[in-house]
Amino acid sequence: MFSKILIANRGEIAVRIIRACKEMGISTVAVFSEADRDALHVSLADESICIGPAQVQDSYLNMTAILSAAEATGAGAIHPGYGLLSENAKFAALCEECHIVFIGPSSKVISEMGDKDAARKTMIAAGVPVVPGCEMVEDLAKAHEEADRIGYPLLVKARAGGGGRGIRRVDRSEDFEDAFRSASQEAQLAFGDGGVYLEKFVAPAKHIEMQLLCDRQGNVITLGERECSIQRKNQKMIEESPSPAVTPELRQKMAEAAVKAAKAVGYTGVGTIEFLLDPDKNFYFMEMNTRLQVEHPVTEMVSGIDLVKWQIRVAAGMPLAFTQDDIHISGHAIECRINAENPELNFRPSCGRISLLHIPGGPWVRFDTALYQDYMVPPFYDSLIGKLIVHAPTREEAIRKMQAALCELVVEGVDHNAELHMDILSTPAFKSGDYYTNFMELREKRG
Ligand code: ADP
Ligand code: ADP
Ligand code: MG
Repeated sequence: MFSKILIANRGEIAVRIIRACKEMGISTVAVFSEADRDALHVSLADESICIGPAQVQDSYLNMTAILSAAEATGAGAIHPGYGLLSENAKFAALCEECHIVFIGPSSKVISEMGDKDAARKTMIAAGVPVVPGCEMVEDLAKAHEEADRIGYPLLVKARAGGGGRGIRRVDRSEDFEDAFRSASQEAQLAFGDGGVYLEKFVAPAKHIEMQLLCDRQGNVITLGERECSIQRKNQKMIEESPSPAVTPELRQKMAEAAVKAAKAVGYTGVGTIEFLLDPDKNFYFMEMNTRLQVEHPVTEMVSGIDLVKWQIRVAAGMPLAFTQDDIHISGHAIECRINAENPELNFRPSCGRISLLHIPGGPWVRFDTALYQDYMVPPFYDSLIGKLIVHAPTREEAIRKMQAALCELVVEGVDHNAELHMDILSTPAFKSGDYYTNFMELREKRG
């Protein structure tokens, strides 16, 4: 087992990883930007190193600075968290070269699955159903021809995309060229790669994903699905497990497809296969996330498996201590992402000093956060400031528990979206489970 791990991330996920390390008796090294000197992850870690100015390009994405910090502190492994460098094949390869374990799959697997266009091809070859579409197209005229063949509405998607960026919906042929250019430009700016491909727009659809856990001995298990259809601008807001739309038979089929996908690339570590599910229960592979996900706690709650600890163990070469038959999903878990943003002002990001903080408690209530009283939320990073997660025997009870917990949550000093979550949970569509990825769009249209 590793004796020291460097956490190449910030915020709630850095805190989550440090906690797992502490329980495992592993020392921790935090890295931080100049804007994060007073951040919670820095005070919780055993050691900490400043890796540069506030902007992520100069700090949390600065591969050389992070690797130097690992070497200087003698860390044997780097945990990348999510976002930032977590799906960066070049960074994983650099770690391999420096003989530092990257806690995730190999750089080869990251590039095979992280490039969404390449992943589609791999899945087609493995016999996993994918959304109808086409491969990456560079030439605009050729792309337009492909688009007319696929039919509208469709999506132009960046092969390097993530976090909902680099995606454009096109409803009519005459709008195609603008969408193609702007998706490509956005992806070039955000990911340094302007390559795009096309997919039929599946609607209405649910976003259902399967959690995988794979060791280096070839054991592949699934830990059930998460439903993540409550989204805004293709970004998840609420996640739950199990999905109210997935029957045991469908779960079995989706799990088999996910295992097939993982085996096709020799996947190791934790990973997620994202699918779209249509109302006729046809499902299509959308992408694989080759990392720990934001919403991993809902799976932890229903499976009783600590995903971060197992991610660290399998990265160290330990075999899984359980088989698929040992996995029992029990009850229902829901997560609400608490973002520092103002839903009334078009979700304008908010920053400032936390003047009052009260974290909800009680049985089966979890709040993953890096906030503390008087903390200054900086303006430079992602707006996620906390994740409220509840677990109950049934979906109905989980909704009530979440409503009670949201009522109790107090975060003053920044704008946030807790009230919006309350409103969503009380809608008939959410309560019945009969909702799709267009839930927020429909709600905003109704006003
Ligand atoms: P998940 O699929 O785990 O829910 P998201 O897609 O919401 O993850 O992304 C997790 C976080 O990482 C978000 O804060 C998002 O803004 C960020 N993110 C996702 N992909 C990238 C990327 N390729 N580059 C930079 N940040 C990313
Ligand atoms: P990201 O890497 O940004 O997470 P995804 O490919 O996972 O990108 O897509 C993000 C979201 O966009 C999905 O969760 C889904 O709601 C929507 N989406 C993506 N592809 C399609 C599609 N072909 N049809 C309908 N919705 C889609
Ligand atoms: Mg996705």
